[in-house]
Formats: sequence, structure tokens, C-alpha cells
Amino acid sequence: MAELLKNFVSGEWVAGHGPGTVLHDPVTGAELARVSSDGLDLADAFSFARTMGGTALRALGYAKRAGMLGEIVKVLQGNRDAYYDIAIANSGTTRNDSAIDIDGAIFTVGQYAKWGAALGERNALLEGARAKLGKDGAFQSQHVLVPTRGVALFINAFNFPSWGLWEKAAPALLAGVPVIVKPATATAWLAQRMVADVTAAGIVPHGALSVICGSSRGLLDALKPFDVVSFTGSADTAATIREHRAVVAHSVRVNIEADSINSALLLPDAGADSEAFGLLVREAVREMTVKSGQKCTAIRRILVPQSLYDAAAQAIGAKLGGVTVGNPRNETVRMGALVSRTQYDAVREGVAALRAQADVLYDGSNRPLVDADPDIAACAAPVLFGTRDPDHAEIVHRVEVFGPVSTLMPYRDLDHALALIRRGEGSLVVSIYGADTRALAHAALELADSHGRVHVISPAIAQQQTGHGNVMPHSLHGGPGRAGGGEELGGLRALGFYHRRAAIQAETAVVDALAAAPFVL
Ligand code: NAP
Repeated sequence: MAELLKNFVSGEWVAGHGPGTVLHDPVTGAELARVSSDGLDLADAFSFARTMGGTALRALGYAKRAGMLGEIVKVLQGNRDAYYDIAIANSGTTRNDSAIDIDGAIFTVGQYAKWGAALGERNALLEGARAKLGKDGAFQSQHVLVPTRGVALFINAFNFPSWGLWEKAAPALLAGVPVIVKPATATAWLAQRMVADVTAAGIVPHGALSVICGSSRGLLDALKPFDVVSFTGSADTAATIREHRAVVAHSVRVNIEADSINSALLLPDAGADSEAFGLLVREAVREMTVKSGQKCTAIRRILVPQSLYDAAAQAIGAKLGGVTVGNPRNETVRMGALVSRTQYDAVREGVAALRAQADVLYDGSNRPLVDADPDIAACAAPVLFGTRDPDHAEIVHRVEVFGPVSTLMPYRDLDHALALIRRGEGSLVVSIYGADTRALAHAALELADSHGRVHVISPAIAQQQTGHGNVMPHSLHGGPGRAGGGEELGGLRALGFYHRRAAIQAETAVVDALAAAPFVL
């Protein structure tokens, strides 16, 4: 039987009861490991994290915690090769795709180490300017942010076992809040291994970092006031969490990153021979194929002026024709597997559903897989859909197929394009392609209310741009409405979620004394 991965709770490695759930290689079907959270004393685990972890972290202050993040970076760097091995086996990703998860995580922790160092040896932040409350100004109000004295529970999706952990843990640990992570079961191995390496290195205090692999049963019941939950996953699970008795009863702060139907928009003035057109085509293909389209930020809808619909279909289809799919261990393979056969079935179902309202413009599924058995491997080929009537093809604005699938659609004028994009009802990211900087800025502001991030691409920054789907720690990650309404990252803004805000009303000398210590956020 495959090894049963232990959980790290209450400062100890503990095996769950029973045979557990098996983790598979999505390409070969081989059994890799097992996980079980059955029988864990969750109340004790949470209490240990709050008391031991929280107290120790708060005693450090921001700058020392930033130093701790720097040490975490070194540990993760030192074990990178092992992480790549786990990713290829458990996530079925190519080296380039694994890098987004692994090196993306290390980069993000490194950024927070840098930003955190500037906060100094203190444990509270000022927010905004002070306000005079009385007529003579002697009585004043100042908002402060202090670390919450609870635990940060992370419930993560399967697609980014590494980045999903660290993009949340870096700001939480910097804020002085202990972390309990429950990775998605299918790919829990990588997160569990990273926690094991970091705890073995002895650089985080006891109780500051715990990992629970396997079922989520009982986790939410353990929540208390001042705890926070950060969730990434489907809208259905998000709804369950929001409605959970403990979350409601204790007013537990919850951040949700859910699914979304992100768009790419080519502005009306672009021609088929323009650089903007080429940039949109390249990015659409990249977004469909990176991590086999299993990215919450992936482009699901591609909007082009009516006159360019055929040219765009041809150009995207031609590039997709060059994408080899199969076993990521073969160096000629450009796109690896989906995360599991269950996801493979879900993608097939999604493709079948889209077929009812959209045309297939490109379908790579008749090409043989490289080094992979189609009856076993969770390898799905890219499929480009198109609809000439996007107003009535409601499904393309509603259904997220979490795989290498996207839909091309024509628009009449900018207002029509903006209205179509808004039918996503709130998304993580939209990218806009064009050369007219005023038109780009106008479209960006028009779409800013319904997106957490607007990625504006003009020829001048074609080489330097960071990519539609790449989540940079400097920028906000999260989106309104359907995307979950969450906010992560965005530089030091991320600390807000892990702090409590309070207004201190006092005489000027007391407010002066506050200001002597903390940093102004
Ligand atoms: P999921 O089924 O909702 O699972 C997400 C996490 O929730 C997993 O850890 C899962 O554990 C756990 N979970 C399931 N039921 C739960 C419950 N009743 N209470 C508490 N936790 C529970 O989502 P998924 O299939 O892993 O992820 C795919 C979806 O996530 C896609 O729709 C994608 O768009 C979205 N996503 C969004 C973002 C973003 O940043 N916005 C990023 C990545 C993915 P088990 O694995 O043990 O079931």
C-alpha cells in the first residue's frame, strides 16, 4: 500500500485513522500516497495554533517575521527538485507548468519577506490619518490595525498545491497569524511535503504552521471568533462555507476565491495584421494550454471585432495545432494532464454542454497522446469553441470548463463587448489588447468594477508584461460577484485580512504615542 502521509497538528506529526484516500498519478494511474484526517483532535489542533503559534508569532514583530519568510524561501529553494518530482507525479504537469506553482510560490514568499522588512520591529499598523473629534482638536481618532488573535484556516483548490498555500501563508505569517492549511485531497502531497520541510528546518514557531490532509470534516466546527478562513475552490463549496453554523455564529471573516469566466478583449481599432491581434492570439493559446487550462484566471471568453472573427479562429486554431499533449515526462510534450480522471470526465461533460450552444472551431482530441494511454491518462486536448451569436449563447457566459477550453465571440461595438464581458457577473481578470492608450484606459475603467484585475496590453509593453493569468503578489487577486468577492495579495494590502481594525479615540498625546511605534499603511 502507498505511504500514508501524516498531518502536522498540535506540533506533532499524526497519522489519520483508516486506509485513507489514495492520491494518483493522473498520467499513469499509479498510486502515489494516501491521506487521512480521520480521528484528529481538531479542537486541540486549533487551540494549540492560536495559543502557542499566535503568541510566538506576535512576539516577533513584523521585521523578524519577514526574516522568517526569508528563511522559508531558502528551505523551499533547497528542496525545489523534490517538489518538481512530486508535481510531475501528482499533478501531471510539465516543468514549465510546475514552475508556476512552485517558483511562483517561492517568489511570492520572497516578495513578502522584502515588503515586511520595511515594517520594522513593531506589532501594529496605523491606517490613514488621524481625525480631530472635538472643536479644539484635543480629542482625536486614529485607526490602527493589529494582528487577529485567531488562526487562519486555508482550504485550497487542487490546481495550485504550492502557490495556493504560500500566497496565503506569506501575508498571514507576516501579520503574525498562525496557519492551518487543508490542501485539496487530489494534490495534497506537495503542500504536505513543503510544510514538512519548513517545520523540520525549525524556522517557524511551534503551532505557527499546521497541515491537515484528507477530508475537511469538522474543520469549520473548530472555528472561533477572531479566526479567519481563506477558501479557494468552487462556488458550491464556497456557499457551504459561508453558511456554516460556526462561521455565522462567530462572525468568522471569510475570503472566497471561486470560479470565474474571465475574458480577453481585442479593441475595435485593431486589424488582423496589428501587433495587438498577434498578442491576443498568443495569450489566448497560452491561457488555454498552461496547466491544461486548470487556472482560475484562465481566459474562457475571447472577444474580437466582428470583422476579425474568422481570422482569430484561424490564428488561434493554427497555434493550438502545434500543442502536443501527453505524459509530461516526455520532453516533446507541451501540455500535460488534468489533475485526475474525475476532472477529465468533468471537462468532457463541460465540452458536451458547450457544444449545444457553440461551434467547435478547433478540436485537438483526434490527435494521439504522447506516451500516455488514453484509457488511463487524464489528458484532455484543447478545444476552441466559437459562437457568432454570443447574446443568445448564454452557456458560454455561465459555464466554466476547468480545462483547455475557451470560446471565441464577435462583438459589434465597444458597448456590446463590455456588455458581453459583464455577463460573467464578476471575474478575476480581464485582459484588453490595443494600441490606442486613451481607448485602453477607457475600457480598463469600464471593466474595473467587475474585475479584480484589468490586464492592459499594448505593443509598448509586449515583452515586459507578466501575462494575463499570472498572479503577481504586487496586484490584487480576487474578483467580485461570481468570482467570490475575495481579495488576496496586492502587496501589503493583503495584511488587512489578518488584522483587526480599531479606532483609538484619545487625547493628542496618546495618539502621538501610538504614532511613535507603528508604520503608516
Ligand atoms: P472544490 O471541490 O470546491 O474544493 C476546494 C477545497 O474545498 C478542497 O480542499 C476540498 O477538499 C474542500 N472542500 C470540499 N467540500 C468541502 C466542505 N464541505 N467544507 C469545507 N471544505 C470542503 O474545488 P476544486 O474542484 O478543488 O477546485 C476547482 C475550482 O476552484 C474551480 O471552479 C476553479 O475556478 C476554482 N479555483 C479558483 C481559484 C481562485 O483563486 N479564484 C483558484 C483555483 C481554483 P477535498 O479536496 O478534500 O474535497
